[in-house]
Formats: sequence, structure tokens, C-alpha cells
Amino acid sequence: MNGQFQRAVLQAEDHIDRVLQQSRFALKEREVGRLIQVSSGVARVRGLPNTQAMELLRFENGVMGIAFNLDPNEIGVVLLGEESDLTAGSRVERSGRVIDVPVGEAMLGRVIDALGRPLDNTGPVAAKERWPIEREARPIIERAPVSAPLQTGIKVIDALIPIGRGQRQLLLGDRQTGKTAIAIDTILNQHDKDMVCIYCAIGQRGAAVAKAIQRLREHDALKYTVVLVAAGETTPGLLYIAPYAAASIGEWFMQQGRDVLVVYDDLTRHAHAYRELSLLLRRPPGREAYPGDIFYLHSRLLERATHLKDEYGGGSLTALPVIETQAQNLSAYIPTNLISITDGQVYLSPVLFQKGELPAVDVGKSVSRVGGKAQLPGYLDISGPLRLAYSQFEELETFARFGTRLDDATRQSIERGRRVREVLKQDESSPLTVFEQIVTLQALNAGLFDPLPLVSIKKAGLRLCAELAERFPEQRRRIEAGKRLSAEDKQHLLAFAHAALESFEDHRHEDA
Ligand code: ATP
Ligand code: MG
Repeated sequence: MNGQFQRAVLQAEDHIDRVLQQSRFALKEREVGRLIQVSSGVARVRGLPNTQAMELLRFENGVMGIAFNLDPNEIGVVLLGEESDLTAGSRVERSGRVIDVPVGEAMLGRVIDALGRPLDNTGPVAAKERWPIEREARPIIERAPVSAPLQTGIKVIDALIPIGRGQRQLLLGDRQTGKTAIAIDTILNQHDKDMVCIYCAIGQRGAAVAKAIQRLREHDALKYTVVLVAAGETTPGLLYIAPYAAASIGEWFMQQGRDVLVVYDDLTRHAHAYRELSLLLRRPPGREAYPGDIFYLHSRLLERATHLKDEYGGGSLTALPVIETQAQNLSAYIPTNLISITDGQVYLSPVLFQKGELPAVDVGKSVSRVGGKAQLPGYLDISGPLRLAYSQFEELETFARFGTRLDDATRQSIERGRRVREVLKQDESSPLTVFEQIVTLQALNAGLFDPLPLVSIKKAGLRLCAELAERFPEQRRRIEAGKRLSAEDKQHLLAFAHAALESFEDHRHEDA
């Protein structure tokens, strides 16, 4: 009896919930308000007392806006389109819908704007579903630790600052230091790896976005990528919603159990757009004139990156947010915020960039706090000695510049360090497989590059990788399957590397 009663109560509650849910957005009659003022992408509207937070409002010229500030007498609306033909007194209608984006398989290979409208002249987006752009991050209980690697194909990152699937890794550096290049290279390297990639360009110059899309197209990477563009000249409203829309598109794929990579390029522009909107809406400014909730804004976004437990589908969403620093100042407000929200950072130094040491990753200032656990075991005995050789070298190099007389051991460390630096250089759009990286770095640690003159190291490294192609399938499989090489295999590979590098050796000093 008691049980029956309880069931009846539960059913009644369920019913009430459902009715409430439906009535929430079902507009009983057309609600119409009036536009009071509009300027710089922000409008003030009166007469729509039932509007929901983040609801879409439709203006007379067809432009949509998001209800941002709900004050007792008026609504502060962020416009998502042109305001030029709007006049005070014109009609504003409720849509009854919170802002959303199309999601699904049909998004792959498309270039869209922040509302999911196509920008690529290949017809409408054939998505069946739409998801709200703001969604709750997955609860802790559904999350699994980061355990699988996300290979960038870039030696210095995969070996020394490894990234795991589900991790949030910040890419930061001054302007023009190769941030976008690393992000795009990482997408290119996901070819045939069953990874869905989303490149979200926020406030970038049109030419830079075009170049990125061009690179993706050239390497046939568009078929597994969604490009979401909110270019520099669009309204701050669209810039503001872009990363959330990208996250929702990514979450749909994660929900299907897929691995997803989302690049937010860059969140500095996003923060600027939000600051602009907040100041126009007269929200109180805080540090560096950013509104007080800017930290929450970005943490809400990045919390959505995660690796799900198998019973929840096992998908993952890796976030690579990009931040531009000013004059190498890592301790400005937005960079410190993001450093504290993410699981590590790759810092790109303009000094290294100018010296031509590309990618300009400053290993000393970069870190990956969780990726080490996901790194393939093949790297395990390589990263330690490499990091040590490199950091010792950086110290000694400054020292050696004063013309100090050096003992043999020190000189050797310096010579090795110079070679480490040369070997870690890598061109754009030339990702290396795990196997190529591991053999190259093993040869480096074993001193096989030491007899080579610095100028031919790059060529020698390329030759070694070229000769490895299609050889050692067994060892390659072992490495990729997360196993370590036997001592025998290692010897064998080193002998092979030695033979490949020999022709580059510098015999001049022997003749002298
Ligand atoms: P911005 O601040 O304008 O967004 P950015 O930091 O994203 O710049 P990129 O646009 O990626 O920098 O790169 C700047 C320039 O450096 C580009 O012309 C790019 O081709 C070049 N570059 C980047 N990485 C490499 C590399 N590894 N090898 C050769 N050239 C590179
Ligand atoms: Mg860039």
C-alpha cells in the first residue's frame, strides 16, 4: 500500500515536472517589447517581463540578440548581428528559446559562424539536433583520469610536455610566436587517429583564419574538423558565444564516445569582447577593467573538457586554449587566470622565435601536470635524460658566453645541448610519428648526433626519419600499442640510426 502510494506521488511529481518544463518556454501569446537604445552591439529593451536569461530575442530587422542583463525595468541585450537599421521604438519579440547551435555528424568538414550558419558556400548545415551553447560540465563522478596520449606530432611537446586526452593545455606566448601553428599542426597530426577536431577562431584576422583553413584543406584534415569562425570584425556578441558553441559541438561527439580536440584561438580576444560587453552593459569593472566574473567565464568553458569513464561512453574532450601575452608578461590577469584553470601550459618565447629556434617552446617555463601519466611508455627512458641535458645546457651556455675556459665534461655538455636544441627544431606541417620521434631522440641521447656538425643536424634527422619509413613494423606496432622496446630492439635501432647518420659526420677535425 505504502509502496503504491509512493509510486503515485513520484508519477505525479514527474508529470508536474514535465508540464513545467514544457510551459517554461511555450509562449502563450506573442510577447512584444520596444527597443529603447542601441549602440556598439548592445541594446536596451523594455516590455518583455517574462524573458529568460540567455533567451534569444528577435529584432525588427531580423537580427537576434541574447538577453544578458535582466533588470526590473529593462533588459540589456547583446546583439548577434548588424544594428545599423535598428531604430528606437522598433519591435522586439521573444523567441522562447535559449541560444543554441546545430550539432551532429553533419558539422564535420564545415566552416560555420558562432550560430552555426555556414560560411563555406556548400549549402545549409544538415544537422538534426541543436544543443544550447551553455551546458553543465560533466560531474566529477562521471570523469576518469587522463590515460591516453594526444600526440601532437611535435617532438618537443610529445617528449617533454606530453598532452593527454581530456586535458586542458594552455598555449601562450606573445603575438606571432607560432601559437596557431602548433594548434593547427596538432590537428593535422590527428589524421587517421579517429579524433574529431574543432578549430574555433575568435577575433582573429581574416587572413590568419584563411591561412589556417587552407592548411587544414591542403592536408586533407577538414574531413574530421569543424571550423568555427568569429572573425575580428564581427560583433562582440558573436565573439563572446563562439567558444561555448564550439564546446557544445565537441560535447555532442564526446557523448557518442568519440575523442575530441577543441582549439580556442584565442581566449584573450574572447576576454576583450566580454569586457567590452560588460562595460557597455554597465557591469562593474574589476581588475584591468575586466568584469568580476571573467575567471568564472573561462573556468566554466574549460571545465567542459574531460575524459569520461567507460560506463558513460568513454569519450573525451581535450581543450587547447590559446592566450596572447603582452611583452612576455605571464603574470597579467588573464594569463594567470588561465594558467590556474588549465592542467599545464606550453609557453612560446619571442626570443627563441627570433633566433629561429622553431617551434619556439620555452621548455623551462612549460609544464604538463597530468599528461605524463598518459605518455606512451616508449618515451619513459628518453624524456628524463633529454630534459636534464637541456636544462644543464641552458645554464652552462650563459656561462660559456663569457669566454671562460671550460673543462672537457662541461664542453661536452654544451655540445650535446646544442645538438638537443637542433634536433628539437621542427618545421610547420611536418608532424612525426611516435616511432620516428622515439628513434630520433634515443639516437640523440645515445650521442649519435654528437659527431655531426650543427649545420647538418636538421638534414640528418630528416634522413633518419625517411629511412625509418616502412621499416621495423613489429617495433613500431609495439611502441604504438603502449609497450616498451626490449634492450635488443633498442640496440638494433641504434645501430640502424648510426648507419643512417654516419654519412653526415664531420671528418674535418680528424684530417687536421
Ligand atoms: P598571432 O599572435 O598573430 O596569432 P601566432 O602566435 O599564432 O600569431 P603563427 O601565426 O602561428 O603565430 O606563426 C607566426 C609565423 O611563424 C607564421 O608565419 C608561421 O608560418 C611561422 N611559424 C610558426 N611555427 C613555425 C615553425 N615551426 N617553423 C617555421 N615557421 C613557423
Ligand atoms: Mg595565432
